[in-house]
Amino acid sequence: MDFVGSHILSVDQFERGGIERVFAVADDMAPFARRERMTRVLAGAILSNMFFEPSTRTRVSFGCAFNLLGGDVREIAEVGASSIAKGESLHDTARVMSGYSDVIVMRHPEAGAVAEFAETSRVPVINGGDGANEHPSQALLDLYTIRTEIAARGGSIHGLRIALIGDLRYGRAVHSLLKLLALFDRIEVHLVSPPGLEAPAGITRRLAERGHEVNEHHSLEQGISHVDILYVTRTQEERFPTAAEANRYRGLFRLNQEIYTRHCEPNTVIMHPLPRDSRPAAQELDEDLNANPNLAIFRQTDNGVLVRMALFALILDVAHTVHETAAQVRWFTAKRTPARFRKEARGPDFG
Ligand code: ASP
Repeated sequence: MDFVGSHILSVDQFERGGIERVFAVADDMAPFARRERMTRVLAGAILSNMFFEPSTRTRVSFGCAFNLLGGDVREIAEVGASSIAKGESLHDTARVMSGYSDVIVMRHPEAGAVAEFAETSRVPVINGGDGANEHPSQALLDLYTIRTEIAARGGSIHGLRIALIGDLRYGRAVHSLLKLLALFDRIEVHLVSPPGLEAPAGITRRLAERGHEVNEHHSLEQGISHVDILYVTRTQEERFPTAAEANRYRGLFRLNQEIYTRHCEPNTVIMHPLPRDSRPAAQELDEDLNANPNLAIFRQTDNGVLVRMALFALILDVAHTVHETAAQVRWFTAKRTPARFRKEARGPDFG
């Protein structure tokens, strides 16, 4: 896959080689993300972050990733504050914004809207989530996390056993992750959802056609017993026609320490794309799991910066330079890092 100047709109663009390239560059980014080294390789470049739906992690981690490579970030966070509210088309907005930017990350509530925007953009566009469709960078960071966690337990992505739990119908992170997993070998997938929130048939068919084992469950306990990874998701209430309909599903599957101890194999990794819904009616991932060392949700968010740095470096064609400077340019070493920046000074990380 040729990344240079490319849009990243769907994980359908990826083959295994492209994924491995992203992961190799993400590995190179670790010293920069840890503030042990500094690079200004994207100095003078501008990222426009255009988020027309709520976001914390995706928007901020794309911004941090760009800053860590030396670039500047413009935030366009609310559709009400942009000319789209005055009736401007996505195509006009794309033409204008791409005149001000070197790369654009866009999140939009409608499936396909980011691809439509990209048609007129003169610079690369990364899909930061389009409706219930896809969330490619989330899936890449999830797979990077799976790779790391499973390697630490002596395994690999090939032969992985994974349970995806919750709203598999509207969860775009799930859709993209399942499509990526389909590219590997002998994956055993357990899809655990309430009736009505099953994963789209096209995605399960793709997995089956590629020879993976796909099991569908409507009971939490059945689906989580013999897997390496639990990938828990929240009910995507913003995609339901009414709040009342979303409420019917909220809180149906709740993972807590007691259920984990009773049903899961020891060392089963717990992931979630976040945010987890901590309201009493939901609690799909109970905070009593925070002390569980297999809870990887904050390792996932940390990995998001590495993977998003890698995407920028590849698309803007500086990955090779970063690789070389990683060995040469020192900013400050861990020893000289002020205590307030040091990881161990930040208190226990329950992720
Ligand atoms: N943050 C993820 C997304 O934007 C997952 C979620 O919102 O539940 O799709």
